[in-house]
Amino acid sequence: MSGLQRMLEDIEMEVNQTRHLIGKDALDDRVMTAIKQVPRHKFLPADFRFFAYDNGPAPIGSGQTISQPYIVALMTDLLNTKPTDTILEIGTGSGYQAAILSRLVKQVYSLEVIAELSVNARRQLKKMGYNNVTVKTGDGRLGWPEHAPFDGIIVTAATLHIPRPLIDQLRTGARLVIPVGLPYNYQELMVIEKKANGKIEPRSILGVNFVPLIDGCDAETTGKDSESGDLYYE
Ligand code: SAH
Repeated sequence: MSGLQRMLEDIEMEVNQTRHLIGKDALDDRVMTAIKQVPRHKFLPADFRFFAYDNGPAPIGSGQTISQPYIVALMTDLLNTKPTDTILEIGTGSGYQAAILSRLVKQVYSLEVIAELSVNARRQLKKMGYNNVTVKTGDGRLGWPEHAPFDGIIVTAATLHIPRPLIDQLRTGARLVIPVGLPYNYQELMVIEKKANGKIEPRSILGVNFVPLIDGCDAETTGKDSESGDLYYE
């Protein structure tokens, strides 16, 4: 059995084991097809490629990790995307989650606070032809107001407080999928839906363990950020 096939089966098994928490026996076929289409090993540093298809997180440099495939699949499913959607991702990391989303929606905007990671991810996504993903170095806690409102926002780093701009930048009826809790600790994966009256409806799905959403000022966002020499780019 190929590594990818094994990974898909592992995801399906874990979905089944957590069906009482996620409220379904299987994830959306579209999501599983996207997972099948994106070669995860291409988003890992060469030294770690041998476990690209294990159902676990993996290091991507700068002290960060690419999430466990089951969590990537679950969060993508929870976003409930449509092909016409514009989605914002906070925490580009390797670019893998953005690549999965790019197969499912019209446009993905992704923010990464560590310049080195955002430059690498942008280069890799471009090389692989994921042309509907735009990566920028910046603090995701501010969202990306120029492209708002979004049909969905996914945050792939944990925070104790949900940044207000992310709620503001959600379209009515859209969802924010975000791990809420202390860094490197128990966090709740939450789905927050913005209702027609502007109210928000939070729902807890299950416990997760993400790296923290960091303060933009603490990150190394200065320096050689892009080929154009500009810190912000599109
Ligand atoms: N989605 C990624 C994995 C993300 S790991 C993937 O598919 O590979 C979490 C990422 O969030 C890290 O790369 C980290 O640098 C980034 N991050 C942390 N705080 C951030 C912030 N305030 N704004 C944007 N990105 C942030």
